[in-house]
Amino acid sequence: MSDIIQLLPDHVANQIAAGEVVQRPASVVKELLENAIDAKASHIKLIVKEAGKTLIQVIDNGIGMSVTDARLSFERHATSKIKAAEDLFQLQTKGFRGEALASIAAIAHVELKTRQENDEVGTEIKIEGSEVISQEACATPVGTSISAKNLFYNIPARRNFLKSNAVELRHIIDEFHRVAMAHPSIRFDMYHNGSETFNLPSSNHRQRIVNIFGGKTNEKLVPITEETDLVQISGYVGKPEYAKRTRGEQFFFVNNRFIKSSYLNHAVNSAFEGLLKEKAHPSYFIYLEVDPQTIDINIHPTKTEIKFEDEHALYAILRSSIKHSLGQFNIAPVLDFNR
Ligand code: ADP
Ligand code: MG
Repeated sequence: MSDIIQLLPDHVANQIAAGEVVQRPASVVKELLENAIDAKASHIKLIVKEAGKTLIQVIDNGIGMSVTDARLSFERHATSKIKAAEDLFQLQTKGFRGEALASIAAIAHVELKTRQENDEVGTEIKIEGSEVISQEACATPVGTSISAKNLFYNIPARRNFLKSNAVELRHIIDEFHRVAMAHPSIRFDMYHNGSETFNLPSSNHRQRIVNIFGGKTNEKLVPITEETDLVQISGYVGKPEYAKRTRGEQFFFVNNRFIKSSYLNHAVNSAFEGLLKEKAHPSYFIYLEVDPQTIDINIHPTKTEIKFEDEHALYAILRSSIKHSLGQFNIAPVLDFNR
């Protein structure tokens, strides 16, 4: 008999984990933006080149990292955000898995520059294929800049699998919008190939939505609000006459995190019943606040799906609150004698 099991070397394990966390440039954008938010930044700048294929850089003015933390941040399961499994149910942060930086560093050329307020000099670290190439003291503003270059440089199959720049850029912008909509008080800028694509000043939910989707959006928003023991609902639905053929403008945020939920989407659609033309989809920008104890975020690596403890009640509350708001705005069903 002979033993055949061995532990995978770190860089191999990281590369495998990266396959789950990083599907495309937009995944890197999401992780880096979320880290900047967790670092309490008030201004976050996203710079991409060639739709993120050659460069994705996020610069924040958050709390920065110490020398030791800067190095540790690239280890797998290294996180400052939770200490025990129970903490998963009191999450105040976007991150908690401690996998993003390790994953990104396994499949891109990564450069980190970071400094904390009370440190005179910052730290600069360069990593390729999970290996630290250099670490030096450097002059850098308070906060953190992380750049990921040449994504999937060491996994040709993944690199070739990437879509056209137009498609990959669309995914990046979608991700940028979601994060920016969840955090309207933070200022966000985005640059693509050297030119400014977005400049979103610190503001409120409504203004942020308008800044992203254009001035005409303002007049089509119907506010919704509801407060129960289970959930606090705020946000907007689009007036029925603005409903679209495409599902572009449909957003749920739970505790400031963008999520996808076909179940809750159904609740919204059912509130619009009789108000929409056939095949039209309502726009919505809905913010739900729930007790973190009543949700489970850890069911998918990208955290865009979550489990609610009481999904049925949530469905009913959401539906009735939207119906109520539409009613208040005197939006009557479309007359359709063929129904
Ligand atoms: P997670 O966000 O799940 O903790 P990451 O791999 O994304 O895992 O980051 C690891 C750790 O590195 C974080 O917990 C945080 O302490 C630190 N970190 C990452 N990005 C930043 C940043 N922009 N500013 C300050 N600290 C950061
Ligand atoms: Mg993170």
